[in-house]
Amino acid sequence: MTCDPSRSGLGIVDRGAIAIDAGVVSWVGPNDQRPHADREIDARGRLVTPGLVDCHTHAIFAGDRANEFGMRAEGRTYLEIAKAGGGINATLGPTRAASDDELIALMNARLDLALAGGTTTIEIKSGYDLTVDGELRLLRCIQRASAMRNQRLVPTLLAHLIPPERRDSRDAFVAEIHEQLIPKVAAERLATSVDVYCDEGAFTLAETTAILRAAKAAGLAVRGHVGQFKDLGAAPLLAELGALSADHVEQIDDAGIAHLAKAGTVAVMLPGACVQLRLPVPPVGKLRAAGVPMAVASDMNPGSSNCETLGVQMWLATTHFAMTVEETWLGVTRHAARALGLSGVGTLVKGAPGDVVVWNCDEPAHVPYRYGTNLVGAVFIAGVEQSR
Ligand SMILES: [Zn+2]
Repeated sequence: MTCDPSRSGLGIVDRGAIAIDAGVVSWVGPNDQRPHADREIDARGRLVTPGLVDCHTHAIFAGDRANEFGMRAEGRTYLEIAKAGGGINATLGPTRAASDDELIALMNARLDLALAGGTTTIEIKSGYDLTVDGELRLLRCIQRASAMRNQRLVPTLLAHLIPPERRDSRDAFVAEIHEQLIPKVAAERLATSVDVYCDEGAFTLAETTAILRAAKAAGLAVRGHVGQFKDLGAAPLLAELGALSADHVEQIDDAGIAHLAKAGTVAVMLPGACVQLRLPVPPVGKLRAAGVPMAVASDMNPGSSNCETLGVQMWLATTHFAMTVEETWLGVTRHAARALGLSGVGTLVKGAPGDVVVWNCDEPAHVPYRYGTNLVGAVFIAGVEQSR
């Protein structure tokens, strides 16, 4: 499976072979035409795909919220739990209290699990400190982890929530984000994009506008958590700013979908969080009809989706969201890379990174079809097999 945009569908090459030279794909084609290589690996007819791309995670945090999982199972809603002091705010304390080394160790353990599931490129958002210095610290920790790991880590600054201690000075807090935090993040190159949680209980559309305009002015790409609970009308703003992605979109109207389609903004589906919070399914059929590219991501976070494995999300995308197998695969490869502004990643074409997964099955549908079983046989990053 090449996911080559110049081939149809998933770009399947039957009985194919791939050559990697100096970490980069140098040739793809039929096995009987493969070029000479110093070292050859026989995949024995199994499915070979690009390394998976998880384009939406909150993988840097301390503590867990298993208590909230239990409360939801008993019928309490996410917003009820959040108003009672749970939710994102419950992760701020443990994250702020953890040392850099502790945060990196916790994150590395999650990234190892993601790698075991075939994820070779992974986005990580800040957002569990919510002070200027604390958010910079989280992004610096991601930068440190990135230097230690082979996986490609893509850092995002996330304006996640107004923290409880700033509820009476919310305008000043928003101003700190766009006047202080964003310029520092851009100057230190600590993130490639800025994301805002624009929803009921988080940032208003006016606040989102101020933050994302500042991000754009600082030369950073923009993204949005939008319409998870309520559509605050952010789609025209995201389209105007050429946003890479609009994530969640359980709630989005037809006009909003048309804006995303026109701008080429990727709609990121987060089925694990959607199922766990018992939210309505996003309008996949309408997004498809409008030609909006769709990605599928884990939303790995301690509250609504404590999951590192994209295979499980692929199962939920195909079953609960009624995405096709092809859409789901493109959603964790090429389209996910597009949501991160990465070209070449998520494909196996000449010049792309040599990030490859060999699966213990022979056809694409088996990965979501056999959910819960890790079918990953081997993972290569830049042509080098990873120990898992
Ligand atoms: Zn999220």
